Amino acid sequence: MTSAGNDTETATAIQKATAGSSVIGPLNFGKDNEGGNPPPSRLTDDTAVECMFCENVYNFRLGDSRDQYLAHLYMVHRLVIADIGEVECVASYSRFWRDKFREHPMEKYCSALLLNHLPDGTPASNEKYFMLSDIEPLDYELRQRLKREMMELVLARHQFERTDRNFNRGCLYCRDLQAETRAEFLEHLYSKHFLLLGKAENLVFVDELIDAVQEKMENLICLFCEKVFKDRPTLKEHMRKKGHKRINPDNKFYDRFFLVNYRNDRLKKPAPTGKQPVPIRARAKESSPFHSEDSDSDWSDWYGEEQPTTCLFCTVAKGKIDELKQHMKVDHNFDFDGQVVGLTFYQRVKIVNYIRRQMHVLRCVQCREEFPSKDELQTHLREAGHYSTGEQQFWDQPEFFFPTYEDDQFLCHLEDDSPDLSDDSSVVISEKVEAKVNPEAESLSLENFRLD
Ligand SMILES: [Zn+2]
Ligand SMILES: [Zn+2]
Ligand SMILES: [Zn+2]
Ligand SMILES: [Zn+2]
Ligand SMILES: [Zn+2]
Repeated sequence: MTSAGNDTETATAIQKATAGSSVIGPLNFGKDNEGGNPPPSRLTDDTAVECMFCENVYNFRLGDSRDQYLAHLYMVHRLVIADIGEVECVASYSRFWRDKFREHPMEKYCSALLLNHLPDGTPASNEKYFMLSDIEPLDYELRQRLKREMMELVLARHQFERTDRNFNRGCLYCRDLQAETRAEFLEHLYSKHFLLLGKAENLVFVDELIDAVQEKMENLICLFCEKVFKDRPTLKEHMRKKGHKRINPDNKFYDRFFLVNYRNDRLKKPAPTGKQPVPIRARAKESSPFHSEDSDSDWSDWYGEEQPTTCLFCTVAKGKIDELKQHMKVDHNFDFDGQVVGLTFYQRVKIVNYIRRQMHVLRCVQCREEFPSKDELQTHLREAGHYSTGEQQFWDQPEFFFPTYEDDQFLCHLEDDSPDLSDDSSVVISEKVEAKVNPEAESLSLENFRLD
């Protein structure tokens, strides 16, 4: 019942991926796990994560503590972390940078930007903000390293869970079962109760998954649609009738339980290179997005002229912004002005930077699917009709204050049509989520971790 082929494939990919040398020393998960202890389910202890810059401590297992920490970094330390959703272990990531920032100023590793507002949105002038992103080579390597280490851990854990015969857990529904193995348990849930969590060979951290499912049901929440019901019989009836006896595929919480989400293609993203438009954070002289081989002369020739602006979705460039907007309407069915009606200047900035960033990393702005090439992304955008600004939750993030490309002329043509300057719609993260020290964090034990 195990898919040995896939495991071998993944293992080979890991060997390849870990073969490269690294300036970052060993981070987490020890390979000396022969003591018979089950492999851990986390790369590191995430119940007491210290802020990179101050003494605040966060327990990532509690509620939205991780988001509170990220909000704290922005509100208090003016730092945003780009693509945080792709950092495999934020606790390790944070610890690594905490050590670095003890010795070096933020400027050494971060890009800086001046904005005319405080983190809470209050107008101000020339306020400095920082961003950590994988444009910084050390950051890039750290992110890759964490992905590799996570893959190793997942494989070790998966191997253990498939063979361990001391699972010993009773069914969530009936008293008929005391399962020895996770596979037996999952199979029983499916064959006897039609509850589909997934096949053991596709899952990892099964114990936690079952805990989460049990907790949902105890709280009378439907696994699939996540509505709350008044009592257990009503919930069971609903789940049976509606066919909701499976987990919600759109809930990102469950992603970490599926082996497929750790496959080697997540390592495919190439290191930043100098081809095509160069991200501003590369900070190189030649980093103009409009630099081309045959125009060594700089833009001083254009002094006083309107510089060409490049389309948000393709390589078309126009001298007049109106012509470019017309191109986007005709060729991409995308009406920029129509899309940003009622949005503030800063929100428009974020939308432009968001789209630029997604196009740069070959990810669809709307459905966020990634593609191996520009052509394939373009085909998808065209065929799916996904030329858009994407959902607000995607672009309305502080990291998109930072321009993706140097001298992005599109940004020079943005207007603010909200006349009310006290309008607080540019507040990125509200005050109320500003993080406080979690008093419980320090007293929590490390009982779930067997790292040695
Ligand atoms: Zn802090
Ligand atoms: Zn049962
Ligand atoms: Zn439901
Ligand atoms: Zn275009
Ligand atoms: Zn799409």
